[in-house]
Amino acid sequence: MKLGLDGKTAIVCASSKGLGKSCAKALAAEGVNVVLNGRTQSSLDTAAEEIAKIASGKVTQVCCDVTTEDGRNALLEVAPHPDIVVNNAGGPPPGNFRDWDVAAWHSAINANMLTPIELIRATVDGMIERGFGRIVNITSSAVKAPIPELGLSNGARAGLTGFVAGTARQVAGNNVTINNILPGRFMTDRLHGNITHNAEQANVSFDEMASQMQKKIPAGRFGDPDEFGALCAYLCGQHAGYITGQNFVIDGGAYPGTL
Ligand code: NAP
Repeated sequence: MKLGLDGKTAIVCASSKGLGKSCAKALAAEGVNVVLNGRTQSSLDTAAEEIAKIASGKVTQVCCDVTTEDGRNALLEVAPHPDIVVNNAGGPPPGNFRDWDVAAWHSAINANMLTPIELIRATVDGMIERGFGRIVNITSSAVKAPIPELGLSNGARAGLTGFVAGTARQVAGNNVTINNILPGRFMTDRLHGNITHNAEQANVSFDEMASQMQKKIPAGRFGDPDEFGALCAYLCGQHAGYITGQNFVIDGGAYPGTL
């Protein structure tokens, strides 16, 4: 299936590694000009080299912290009129809710709620004027089923989800869609860190913890980030114009609900 995205431009936040990189890869393979982002120049260079091999459009990098105003402005400077925005940032650290003070909450809310809201605010009116726009927010399966040690993520991402539910309906009439993708467990650096944390807490080895976690997933394995990128590209495509305000869980069947 061709997604009809040749020549479009996408800002893909936090895309030098992991799920963001897979989204950028899948879009680049569809002919989209992608703007990559991350805070570490060497990781960005590696990602850009990998993606350039399969891209037919331009691959640009912006080394900045997307959770700052300066960082977001730097992204918008290289792509002032993006057709696609994939919102993403690092997730908050795991821990015990008793240890999180107001500063910890502000940091999580800034990164995982206000940053995507600010980028939506900065780009959505241009999309409306041009009659095409696709915004995808990478959130977490924790929005549907909270993960106890990731309370900062559970809370901040739920706030973004509420905002998107209301806003998506206000822009849908102009072929601008806003959707969220809720990853379960995908094998990235982030998951590696979570497995390490849980293994330490349970006093078991990394491999033992990884195996215990995989056994709880009906698919019997962790997700491949490229499976995530493919869903993101589909949601950004021409055929997905009638899908908006939705939350797509992609977790190998781990969420046990009927709906
Ligand atoms: P990852 O493998 O750790 O990759 C994160 C990427 O984001 C890196 O390229 C990192 O590069 C970049 N980044 C982080 N903070 C940034 C910032 N402030 N500004 C710009 N770039 C930034 O993480 P991931 O697994 O892909 O996770 C992506 C998001 O999905 C996270 O919010 C995570 O919590 C969420 N999530 C992941 C899973 C999973 O199983 N993987 C499950 C649920 C939710 P630099 O560090 O160099 O900036």
